[in-house]
Amino acid sequence: MKITEILKHDKPTLSFEVFPPKNEVNYKDVEKATGEIAKLKPDFMSITYGAGGGTSSYTVNIAKEIQKEYAVPTLSHLTCMCSSKEDIKAQLKLLKDNDIENVLALRGDIPNDKSLMEKSEYTHAVELIRDIKESGDFCIGGACYPDGHVECEHKADDIYFLKEKVDAGLDFLTTQMFFDNNVLYNFLYRIREIGITVPVFAGIMPVTNGKQIKRITELSGTYLPTRFKAIVDKFGDDPAAMKQAGIAYATEQIIDLLANDVRGIHVYSMNKPEIAEGIKNNLSNIL
Ligand code: FAD
Repeated sequence: MKITEILKHDKPTLSFEVFPPKNEVNYKDVEKATGEIAKLKPDFMSITYGAGGGTSSYTVNIAKEIQKEYAVPTLSHLTCMCSSKEDIKAQLKLLKDNDIENVLALRGDIPNDKSLMEKSEYTHAVELIRDIKESGDFCIGGACYPDGHVECEHKADDIYFLKEKVDAGLDFLTTQMFFDNNVLYNFLYRIREIGITVPVFAGIMPVTNGKQIKRITELSGTYLPTRFKAIVDKFGDDPAAMKQAGIAYATEQIIDLLANDVRGIHVYSMNKPEIAEGIKNNLSNIL
């Protein structure tokens, strides 16, 4: 089922994100974790894609499995930074052959090993979006950054390029993680003002590893509110406490978003069924 169809339902949408295995050895573990998350019956699940494309067949296999075994629609991520046009054509055919109708069209991060980009025929996601649009009947999503993308000096430029992506054929957007809902509300106001009207899924990351999140957010430029930093400082070294606090913080963010009429919630559940379940249970009377 296409995400555009799911969005027509008369209730907010909850999705969970998982990532594929890096190799055959841990395939079974990932399959088990993603299966447990699928059993929670989110409205859809998204499966990430290795920036270099090395795990592309795993992304499709996990997506196919989730749709077939659990009847949960999937969104397959696709990056282009290290791909030729032929690679993309082949991957889109694979998606079509496996009845995967939703694609998240991404550029991917620039790899440290520049040799991985030798055959690349893409520079930005907008080119990939145009190719997907031309190649057939996919529902296409794109990424957006409430705190601004790390490579972009001016937020206004970032939004200008976002408009270009949407105009190229995006059906929806999913945000990078953010920890202060006011950052999202401000972003939504700014994009609506320049005429971006597609639905936006709010990306929520339940933080379970304090040290890791500080490093990630430093690199990505994501703003950490003082209240959140205090939680990480206090509980970051205690995995059980951090997990409980991280789920509680994410739940509170989601409830505030829903109360303010944000209708799409995307949880970065990171192959952790207990986190997806914790969030789902906390919202049992709300969603
Ligand atoms: P773009 O939209 O191309 O933007 C990249 C930068 O270029 C921005 O600074 C933008 O302002 C600028 N820009 C855009 N268009 C132009 C233009 N025409 N001219 C000049 N500048 C321009 N990475 C993965 O490897 N695998 C994944 O599965 C994955 N999933 C993700 C899911 C979500 C929801 C998000 C938010 C990110 C995800 N990423 C993933 C990370 C993403 O690939 C990186 O953030 C990457 O650096 C940018 O990708 P993009 O599609 O936003 O790029």
